Amino acid sequence: MIRNVTILILLLPVLSCAQLSPQSKKVTETFFPEHILEINTPAFAKKKGFTTHAELIAFLNELVSKHPAKAKLSVIGKSQEGKDIPMIVVTNPDSQEAKTRVFMQGGLHGDEPASTEAMLFLLHQMLNNDSCAALLNTIELGVIPMANIDGFEKQNRYAANGLDLNRDQTKLLAPETTILKNAFNAFDAQVAVDFHEYRPFRADYAKMSTFGVTSIYDVMFMYSGNLNVPQVLRNYTNDVFISDARRAMESVGFRHHDYFSTEDHSGHTHFHQGSSNARSSATSFALRNTISALIEVRGVGLNRTSFTRRVHCGYLVAMSFLKTTSDNAEGIHSLLNTLNDNTSEAIVTSQAEEKVTQLAFIDLDKNEEISLDVTVHDAFKSTPTLKRSRPVGYVLLPGYPDLSEKLLTLGFTLVAIDQPQFLEVEKYIATASSQDSEKYEGVFRQHVSTTTEMSRKEFPQGTQVLLLEQSRSNLAIELFEPEAKNSFVSFGLLKVEMGDELPIYRLKGDFKSIDNESK
Ligand SMILES: [Zn+2]
Repeated sequence: MIRNVTILILLLPVLSCAQLSPQSKKVTETFFPEHILEINTPAFAKKKGFTTHAELIAFLNELVSKHPAKAKLSVIGKSQEGKDIPMIVVTNPDSQEAKTRVFMQGGLHGDEPASTEAMLFLLHQMLNNDSCAALLNTIELGVIPMANIDGFEKQNRYAANGLDLNRDQTKLLAPETTILKNAFNAFDAQVAVDFHEYRPFRADYAKMSTFGVTSIYDVMFMYSGNLNVPQVLRNYTNDVFISDARRAMESVGFRHHDYFSTEDHSGHTHFHQGSSNARSSATSFALRNTISALIEVRGVGLNRTSFTRRVHCGYLVAMSFLKTTSDNAEGIHSLLNTLNDNTSEAIVTSQAEEKVTQLAFIDLDKNEEISLDVTVHDAFKSTPTLKRSRPVGYVLLPGYPDLSEKLLTLGFTLVAIDQPQFLEVEKYIATASSQDSEKYEGVFRQHVSTTTEMSRKEFPQGTQVLLLEQSRSNLAIELFEPEAKNSFVSFGLLKVEMGDELPIYRLKGDFKSIDNESK
């Protein structure tokens, strides 16, 4: 109890002066010395604060006016507070070589400023530095440098309606999520990287070692451990792209690790490594058969401390991904072209491997690196806890226009049944259903269990069918299987009571639209 009070007192100055950096000078000097590097992006033209929306637009306009052939700027939509969300695409149109499309994004969380600044520095270098510009012969680079404009302007993590845009990628409840998905789908990337910063001083870190610890890693790599992402894609992402990025970090003395964060498990701090959640970008992109990573630079809460170093770090990882793409273009294309050999399974739920291992930290009392034994749940090593056979597709009864709208936004092709039609399906019957009493990210989450039963059922006109044979379809499993953690049912978008037959079905037999047949 006394300990908890002490912690609270220790944390108070941090909480009440959000503008100040919680990092002591000696930690900065010993572990994160500032880099000497000339960066000419808007935030570096001033001593306080970060790039504003107006400065962002002016900076991008200037790039495009100086390089009209190579850079195209567009507005993909408006933030909730009415501000334009820009996307810039850069490539060398004079090069005859085949192009690989790489998508990059910064500022999805509004309080992670080095992510946006790294994107602006990257764009500047790609257009003005000859050795970087050569990459544009083989790459078409699409960048959304400030994805959450309203949050960024307030240096606040959330969108204007209070939602976390990186928990919204299957429920699509923030207008920005729909705008970003439409832009992502239109760009049709082969490689996608989402840049973030992570919080190095966490409440539970204050309880570790004698007087607390802080994180030691300049950058942490997050790539999907989701078992519906083909194994070859997961391996290629790690073995080729992340491996190169690790080497790039080591060559400049930056410390790196696979991404982890903490969670309270009945009073004990456990570490969660990696992720398999379709609600966040890295897994969402990977389930669309994209080589995908989320980059976490050490920075949330540090204000301008080590800012050049943080921006440089994001920039170097971005450059590493571009070089890897350019060096492996053939391998990437042949990998992605073979991913549609469907497996026979759909993984509904999975469990991360739990183990005790050592992680490095900075001991705040001694100001030195220490190693602690911790419990880690490793999503990179997940095993299935519920699996079903992979269906031919999923069927949605009429009367759920919100859900079919979301499916279209997520890039799926739906076939509507024009007249009543019998289909061989498995139906879901709910055997248990409960709902959280508190909202999570705008929804009351449901916890539903189902059994499935074969049925030959007549479906009415207006029923929608999503066939898994279309490209990039693995995401559908996470949306439709009711028990999947980020499904329409789990997020309460489809209310389910115990005993209900759900209005979604697993298509088992061949499907031919009667309408198509008659033509
Ligand atoms: Zn973030």
